Amino acid sequence: MAKKIILLGPPGVGKGTVADKLTKKLNLPHIATGDMLRDNTEKKTPLGIKAKSFMDKGLLVPDEVVIEMVRQRLKQDDCKDGFVLDGFPRTINQAEKIDDLNFDEVINLQATDDIIIKRLNNRRVCSKCGSIFHLDYIKPKQEGICDKCNGKLIQREDDKDEAIKERLKVYRSLTEPLISYFKNKGILVEVDGSKTPKEVFESVVRVVS
Ligand SMILES: [Zn+2]
Repeated sequence: MAKKIILLGPPGVGKGTVADKLTKKLNLPHIATGDMLRDNTEKKTPLGIKAKSFMDKGLLVPDEVVIEMVRQRLKQDDCKDGFVLDGFPRTINQAEKIDDLNFDEVINLQATDDIIIKRLNNRRVCSKCGSIFHLDYIKPKQEGICDKCNGKLIQREDDKDEAIKERLKVYRSLTEPLISYFKNKGILVEVDGSKTPKEVFESVVRVVS
């Protein structure tokens, strides 16, 4: 049976990590909208060219372009047994427009703002290869240095206090109404994202199996 899963949750709750592990376990493709956009613009697909014309002007890519990209991606052969959609939809408007895709499960990873702020504050990114470390969970062997390439680890501007608070505010106002939307459809499952990555993943596996 196909498993069409949406992963919801605030920035910093660990969606990417869960999606990676879950797609490996279920042998399903991980559909992240950021990757999809990059892929389309790099390959200069008609939708990619359209999207880029907005990004070049510093504008958000309009919903209809992103939705069309998602639709095309989900029609590809590797999605026939299902997929994990990560980072989309973000708004009620987007959700309503893909309602016909009949999702099976929406997993909502939740954690309080305090926990997320603390976590993102401890995230470090390699300035050379982009690998992600975490001072609590994925400690680099040597402080401030990437295990893989010896590059310098930095804290992204996005992960600093004020920026995180702003991202969370935007998330809560846009995406939280989505939670009630999927709850009303009876396909929402809540997972406590405040535990360790291992515990969070175990809870997710329990709800999808
Ligand atoms: Zn590195």
